[in-house]
Amino acid sequence: MTGKRYFISACLLGQKVRYDGQDCLVRELVSDLIPDQYVSLCPEISGGLPTPRPPAEIQNASGRDVLNNHATVIDREGMNVSDAFIQGAYAALALAQEHQVTHAILKANSPSCGSDLIYDGTFTGDKIQGEGVTAALFRKQGIVVLTEHEFLQALKLTER
Ligand code: SF4
Repeated sequence: MTGKRYFISACLLGQKVRYDGQDCLVRELVSDLIPDQYVSLCPEISGGLPTPRPPAEIQNASGRDVLNNHATVIDREGMNVSDAFIQGAYAALALAQEHQVTHAILKANSPSCGSDLIYDGTFTGDKIQGEGVTAALFRKQGIVVLTEHEFLQALKLTER
């Protein structure tokens, strides 16, 4: 792990910041990385959204489109929360850059943190290829983005 510095989605470290007030703790992240190796926050909280909050989805587009103002993030109550998502993504990037982060481990499927699949905007559970707003911004800035599953898979391979 030498030379790599990580940004980690706060919910993966056990912080109860998800829309439903829960976390998505992945114990291996806490046990495998030493605190000096990573920084963390929740982009949606940093963007000003509360916990709990209604779930939100990018409307049939990807995070890059939201950053370019070509698509919106709408919550299940119909509120346009795109600005909060963009603001949170830039807050996450500022923290990452301040700490010379090289890699980000971001929660899969989230409209902020997802990096391979995201929900399609219909609130039916259907997913499309794409990335969340924070993941898109990180990639644009050259940070390597992994889901927690990809990180754990890579960890298993290095332990063989
Ligand atoms: Fe976790 Fe990211 Fe959602 Fe915050 S925005 S709860 S860090 S997946």
